[in-house]
Amino acid sequence: MEDINQDNFLRPRFLAEFQGQEALKANLEVFIEAAKRRKEALDHLFISGPPGLGKTTLAGIVASELGVNFVLTSAPALEKPKDLAGLLTSLQEGSLFFIDEIHRLRPAIEEMLYIAMEDFEMDLIVGQGVGARSVRVPLPRFTLVGATTKPGSVSAPLHTRFGITIRINPYTQLELQDIIDRSARLLNIAIDPAAASLLAQSSRGTPRVANRLLKRVRDFAQVHHEATINLPISELALSRLQVDHLGLEDQDRTILRTLIEVYKGGPVGLQTLAIAVGESAESLEDFYEPYLVQQGLIMRTRQGRLATDLAYQHLNIPRPNAPRD
Ligand code: ATP
Repeated sequence: MEDINQDNFLRPRFLAEFQGQEALKANLEVFIEAAKRRKEALDHLFISGPPGLGKTTLAGIVASELGVNFVLTSAPALEKPKDLAGLLTSLQEGSLFFIDEIHRLRPAIEEMLYIAMEDFEMDLIVGQGVGARSVRVPLPRFTLVGATTKPGSVSAPLHTRFGITIRINPYTQLELQDIIDRSARLLNIAIDPAAASLLAQSSRGTPRVANRLLKRVRDFAQVHHEATINLPISELALSRLQVDHLGLEDQDRTILRTLIEVYKGGPVGLQTLAIAVGESAESLEDFYEPYLVQQGLIMRTRQGRLATDLAYQHLNIPRPNAPRD
């Protein structure tokens, strides 16, 4: 029977299974090996990069490679100092403590984390009312892994407390093809190289998207009684899923079309565009825009968002002549 949570099922457990990102892996390997030889906790590790590129996966891998336990939380879940205190006191010597979305920590929690990261100690309030006092308690030496999609929003005092900083960049077409081949093997379905290449090209540089597309194309292959995922079935599936050759989905095209047809190509402010397409400004900025910008379809300017020539070409809309000065 298949794992009910296939995301976890496809998640690499060790560095050797983590595809691509060769330079980053080579460095991590050295840091892990050195920490193991010294029998010390690894330095605190800061991982940034767009969603779905493997930040959580990589943190889990570091824990497995070090042979330490992995405690996982995210900044929005840490509402009160006691939430953080509870997790810190559950750590063991060398534990890997992962905080996702670390740019969203509340100031009081962040202050508490500074002491924990630097001195491996924590202030506990004992007693109540006028009798309440703060006592410092020691913590085991642990490794904090902070992950974020927005490194620019992390405060400098927090950022500088991490000894190792890595950035995961979008994957190349070949790296994604390797990820798709590996996932297909684990899912027990054969895939032609041409089909793997098409899926890789449509995956927005993101392993999570690659795995999602593979699973949906596998559904089409199975329903059409194809033993192998081939090019025609992949093309059919992608067109039914409305994913185009750049990996754009319906909502991406709606954003571009709105920018072009309603706002004459821009510039238009983020808030206005977000309302027009029914998204929050945050999801437009964090989720949709980075890929559209990276593909050269949208430009962010001080005056607002602009559609590029490529956006007009991609949607097959003729661009009106630019006004003369
Ligand atoms: P988010 O910040 O949104 O949680 P993330 O960057 O932490 O995203 P993960 O959840 O770690 O992303 O990865 C998404 C999925 O992509 C994982 O389930 C894993 O199977 C796959 N994956 C990520 N990176 C790789 C890789 N380098 N090789 C193989 N599979 C990968």
